[in-house]
Amino acid sequence: MMRLYYQAFSKLIKVDRLALTPHQYWIAAGKGMERPYTGEYWFNQEVGTYHCQHCDNQLFSFDSKYKSTTGYAQFWNHIPNSVKLEESNIKEERDLCCAGCDSFVGKVSFDGPPPTFIKYSINSAALNFKLKSFQEDPYFRKIARKEKEAQRQKKVEHNYLESNSNL
Ligand SMILES: [Zn+2]
Repeated sequence: MMRLYYQAFSKLIKVDRLALTPHQYWIAAGKGMERPYTGEYWFNQEVGTYHCQHCDNQLFSFDSKYKSTTGYAQFWNHIPNSVKLEESNIKEERDLCCAGCDSFVGKVSFDGPPPTFIKYSINSAALNFKLKSFQEDPYFRKIARKEKEAQRQKKVEHNYLESNSNL
């Protein structure tokens, strides 16, 4: 009897079950929602991308994240072709699943902010945040190059003064 109950509430996902913690599995296959304001990323404001915890599929970008009103990581858009929608037991919502591994990541409703008016409420336990490295950014690369040039210039000056001070 327990087994039937369990099967009725678990979804087929393309992830090795043993690689997941019970909490992660409950979210990914059981369509669970973590308790609001307990996740790692609901307040995260850093620059980077949010990947699927299980298959590394890129799901969201930092520039579509906005201040959370529900205690989940909230976005107004996803990265194209990264997710799929499924019917939810609540009429006004849809379940959001990763297109890569089918695991459940969160809820979608249609009372979000402009420009899309879509609200993605995502479980932090289904996400893995990757910080954008400064080395990848052209602006910071330019600054680093200028600093290196200034150092080289100083060294040349120093060597010139050193070698000519004996004269
Ligand atoms: Zn995935």
